[in-house]
Amino acid sequence: MSETLDVLKSFADGFSTTFKHLFRKPITEQYPEYKRPLPERTRARIILTRDPDGGERCVACYLCSAVCPVSCISMQSAERKDGRRYADWFRINFGRCIYCGLCEEACPTSAIQLTPDFEICNREILSLVYEKEDLLVDHGGKDKEYNFYKYAGVVTDVGDKGAHIQEEKPVNVKSNLP
Ligand code: SF4
Ligand code: SF4
Repeated sequence: MSETLDVLKSFADGFSTTFKHLFRKPITEQYPEYKRPLPERTRARIILTRDPDGGERCVACYLCSAVCPVSCISMQSAERKDGRRYADWFRINFGRCIYCGLCEEACPTSAIQLTPDFEICNREILSLVYEKEDLLVDHGGKDKEYNFYKYAGVVTDVGDKGAHIQEEKPVNVKSNLP
């Protein structure tokens, strides 16, 4: 008997919910006229950002390329006269990207970042291959203050890392080993 009552009660609950929704005003978002604001950490179109000094953050370390599960990032590293590395070219094939965000997690310089901009669909599959000039922006993205070289130090004509005024000696990572 109690089982029958439970079944009837669950039916009544279900139908009452349906009944309530019959008289509610429908909520229809008229996309693309209305674009719902997305959270800043939404994972869509990828950008290459700059540090607060305006320099390119990417040091062409290949970590993002190595971690990408679908191998859609490729690049060629180059070196400036002062020894600083940069990406001579940098390419992302958005036709293959699954927007997992692993590249962003792996990046030591906060250069590569995913943005909420998801409107890059296109029937021309080759137009989804973005080159460095399509990816590089003139701001720092989500991490505006971060400057990799402020923490990593720089080698200049005047001295090695840690030899400059008010600069601490670099940490010997092997000293951290047990
Ligand atoms: S979001 Fe994922 S799939 Fe897309 S480029 Fe980054 S690591 Fe590769
Ligand atoms: S985007 Fe980041 S992880 Fe990828 S090569 Fe540049 S510095 Fe390395």
